[in-house]
Amino acid sequence: MSDASTIAAPPTRAGYERIPLYAPGTAPCATDVSDTINLWGAPPAAVAAVRASTVETIAHYPALYNAELKAPLAAYAGVAPDEIVTGCGSDDVIDCALRAFAEPGGIVAHAAPTFSMVPVYARANGMEPVGVPLAGDDYAVDADALLALDAAIIYLCSPNNPTATPVARETLRRVVAGARGLVIIDEAYAEYVLADPDARAEVFTPEAPGMGRVLALRTLSKAFGLAGLRVGYGVGHPTIIREVEKARGPFKVTYPAEKGVLAALDDVDDARRWVETHARLAVAQRVRLEDGLRALGLAPAPSAAHFAFVPVPRARAVAEQLRARFDVGVRVFTGLPTALPSAVPALAASGGEGLRINAGPEPVQRAFLDALAAVLEGMR
Ligand SMILES: *Cc1c(COP(=O)(O)O)cnc(C)c1O
Repeated sequence: MSDASTIAAPPTRAGYERIPLYAPGTAPCATDVSDTINLWGAPPAAVAAVRASTVETIAHYPALYNAELKAPLAAYAGVAPDEIVTGCGSDDVIDCALRAFAEPGGIVAHAAPTFSMVPVYARANGMEPVGVPLAGDDYAVDADALLALDAAIIYLCSPNNPTATPVARETLRRVVAGARGLVIIDEAYAEYVLADPDARAEVFTPEAPGMGRVLALRTLSKAFGLAGLRVGYGVGHPTIIREVEKARGPFKVTYPAEKGVLAALDDVDDARRWVETHARLAVAQRVRLEDGLRALGLAPAPSAAHFAFVPVPRARAVAEQLRARFDVGVRVFTGLPTALPSAVPALAASGGEGLRINAGPEPVQRAFLDALAAVLEGMR
C-alpha cells in the first residue's frame, strides 16, 4: 500500500520542483473549443487501419526508427526519407532535439507566449527557457532580442500556439543567419496554412534540410485528426536527424499508430482528401469566428491557423462563466507580456489576458459565440 505522506522519496534533479504537470484546467464539457485538435474527427481509413492492426502481428516491434514511416512522410512533406525523424508526437521530437543539441544549463530561447510544453521540456532536460515577448499589432517575433540571448537552441512556432500568428520569412532568415545553435521551427499547423486561400503565413518545412541548422516540426495530431495516436515528425538535414534519433531511441511510434498514419498518408479511401477538405472547412470557420469576435467588440490576433486568440480583460472570469453558465470550455491565458513599450497593444489593454478558441462545426461555434456574447453582456 502506498502512502505519499510516509515514503522517503528519493531526491529529484535540481530544478525539477519548478516543473508543473500539464494541467490546462479542462474537464469534459458540452461545447469544447479549448484544444486545437480536429473537431471534425479523424480520417475513417486511418481509424480502420488502427483497428485492423490490433489483430495483426502486434507481438512484433515496429521497424527500427519507424523506418516504414519515413518514405511516405518525406513524400508528403516534400523532402527525402533521410531528412525525417518521427516521434511519440512532435512533443517527443522537441524533447529529443533539446537533449541532443543543448548542454544542461544551456539557454532555450523562445517567443512569449508560445507552445507551453517548450519551457517544460527545457527544464526537464536541465536547461533554462527564456521567453522574448511578441511585439506590436502583428504579434511579431523579435529576432534581435532572441539572438542577443546567445541561446543553444532557439524555438519558433509558425503559426504560433496560442496566438495563431505567423513567423515572417525575413525573421526566420535573420534568426537562422545569427544563431549559433539549433533553430526549431514548429509548423504543427502547416496544413491549415496550405488550406487557407488568404494565407498570412508561409510553410518552411520543405526548405528546412537546406537551411543547415534548422529542424522543422510537424504533427499528425492536428489537421490529420490523429492526436490519440501520438505521431509527430521533424524535418532537417540528415546530420541533424541522426543526432535527434540518438536521443529518441529505436522504438517510439507504436505499431498500430504506424499503421494508422500509413493509411492516411497512402490516401486509402481518400484519407488525404478528408484531411484537406476539413482543413479548408476549419479555416473558413476560423474566418467566421474572427468576424464573430470582432462583432462583440473584441480584437482577435490575425490568425494564420484554424483557431483564434483574442485578448480579453479578466479572461479567467469570462472562462469560468462560460463553463458554469453554458458548459463551454475555452483555453485561458494570463500573465502574458505587457511590460515593454513594444508589447502587443491589445494585450497591454487586456492586462495580459486572453482566450484561445478552436474553430469547429457551425453548431459548436454558434454555441460558443452566443455564450460569449451573453457572458460579456453580463460583465459590462
Ligand atoms: C499541438 C502542438 C504540438 C503537439 O503535437 P503532438 O504531435 O501531439 O505532440 C506541437 N507543437 C505545437 C505548436 C502544437 O500546438
